[in-house]
Amino acid sequence: MNLENYKLKGEHLSIVTYPDPILSRAAEPVTDFTKDLEHLVKDMLFTMYHAPGIGLAAPQIGQSIRLFVLDVDYERETVTNSSGKEEVRLSDFNPQVFINPVITGTSGSTTYEEGCLSVPGVYEDVKRFQTIHVKYQDLKGHFHEIVADDMLAICLQHENDHLDGIVFIERLSNLKKNFYKKKMIKEKVK
Ligand code: ZN
Repeated sequence: MNLENYKLKGEHLSIVTYPDPILSRAAEPVTDFTKDLEHLVKDMLFTMYHAPGIGLAAPQIGQSIRLFVLDVDYERETVTNSSGKEEVRLSDFNPQVFINPVITGTSGSTTYEEGCLSVPGVYEDVKRFQTIHVKYQDLKGHFHEIVADDMLAICLQHENDHLDGIVFIERLSNLKKNFYKKKMIKEKVK
């Protein structure tokens, strides 16, 4: 599948927010590399670009399977169109899909202010590995291995955590974690 063809076409999937239990569950491996999986990826990319976000894991749209999409390169700008209306324009796409990813090596450390589509409004510094090796499968089930660093490594670790049932606020100090947990639960009840 050419992911480029799908970047702006698809359906909006609704994003599950913390503390929905699916976000705390370890996801199941993908075993069938079907057309349905391609459709799901297409809709996940569409949903991610329009949220907007740089990564989206399957549990975040209610599917407990080991799959996520990301794009750490695209540009998003607000422009005024010919009829004088403001619109958001996306460009320089680099969509990537990771199925059954496994982090096989790590080195160094880096800290970056992370956010998450499932934890709206929360941005906090999280410590991650600077460089990671990741083995994963593509939509055809073929295996690949990459070495990632900087933003790609951070995003991969954040999304991979979702497949293990870990939301980024779990990686904060106990004080901050409990503060945000209470806040999110309160907002959900509202
Ligand atoms: Zn997230």
